[in-house]
Amino acid sequence: MRQSIFALLLVVLSLCAASLPVLVRAEGPDAGAIAGPVAGARTELSALARLEPGRSGVEPVGEQIVATLGLSQPVPFRAYLLDDPSRLVADFRELDFTGASPAAFDPGGLFGEIRWGRFRPGWSRMVAELAEPAALIEAVEITDAAPRIVLRLAPVPAEAFAAQAGAPASALWDLPQPAALEPAHRRQDGSAPLRIVLDPGHGGLDPGAEAEGHTEAVLVLTFARELKEALTRAGIEVRMTRDEDIFVPLETRLTVARAAGADAMISLHADALAEGQATGATAYHFDAAASDEAARKLAERHDRGDLLAGVDLDGHDDEVAGVLMDLARAETQPRSLRLSQVLAGSIKEAGLKMYKHPVQGANFAVLKAPDFPSVLIELGYLSSEADRKRLLDVEWRKRMVAALVQGIETWAQADAAEARLLRQ
Ligand SMILES: [Zn+2]
Repeated sequence: MRQSIFALLLVVLSLCAASLPVLVRAEGPDAGAIAGPVAGARTELSALARLEPGRSGVEPVGEQIVATLGLSQPVPFRAYLLDDPSRLVADFRELDFTGASPAAFDPGGLFGEIRWGRFRPGWSRMVAELAEPAALIEAVEITDAAPRIVLRLAPVPAEAFAAQAGAPASALWDLPQPAALEPAHRRQDGSAPLRIVLDPGHGGLDPGAEAEGHTEAVLVLTFARELKEALTRAGIEVRMTRDEDIFVPLETRLTVARAAGADAMISLHADALAEGQATGATAYHFDAAASDEAARKLAERHDRGDLLAGVDLDGHDDEVAGVLMDLARAETQPRSLRLSQVLAGSIKEAGLKMYKHPVQGANFAVLKAPDFPSVLIELGYLSSEADRKRLLDVEWRKRMVAALVQGIETWAQADAAEARLLRQ
């Protein structure tokens, strides 16, 4: 089934390349994933297709839900359903959603949360949570003077949903797959330039926290670029898990860091915390048993970013692999803990605002790498007006960047000295 769908997609794409007007229609609850294609003159393809909010919307038709996406020009697309949670996913050969809001698209709230945006270079994705199990009975693109994609869903019993849900290829379709484990990167001992991987959180169709028109994804990317520049000036090699506003799954972030031979990975966030008046910076290290309620909610929200993007965590619950990971982590974890402590110390020394518990353990997926130390810095909380102001202030960011560079250098020296000692 998977192969045939993928073959269909390839046929569709190659037909598009030949500029042949094509219309593929599949109906019935067993239709599964549906690839829709395009007519279109070559000349039109130079401009990016846009979603036209005025011609788009979600409406009930009897028991069915019909979602219409008005387009400035046709785009190749495919649509399918995913389970746990139940979601409708549509992938487009790049569709610009600028100026369109999910709330206006689905004013009646027939879907749960809707997310859309860039997914991979050249590809965009829309993910809509389903309120109840449904079958995708029609996914069609109409390529007349008012091009549009129509997705029609009908309710089905839960068992029927589970049977037909599933991405056409891998849920990680078109994403770099996690590489086989390379030989362990040799622990840094000061004999080569330090290599830091910066990991700005969220991006693309996962904006992260949002407040007053600002998104966490954009703010932490700005900060990461400034930190990269300062680290590079200090003679430290830097790689980024993303350098544009694009979606990167949590597991891919670890793969990127591993492939780069990271001496340490630093994830950067500025989440929103609903409860209390959270403000100031926090340094998180991995702790599987962390029980702090706020940290647990943050972990859930970060994993949810992947879920809502249609990219489920692989769930390494293989027991043997789990034991091996724990063993490897036994060496890495104290190094991560020290990195979080030194960074928090450096931020405090610079006189910058810290959260009431500045160093915390958390069960964040992005901190689970067993083979290199990693920390997650919440630069501040987007839910706090004072923190927002700070994040938007270039002078404050300069001070925070300087504090982190200082902290990273201090940690690396002590960490290298320990590596040399252990080897004797
Ligand atoms: Zn975040």
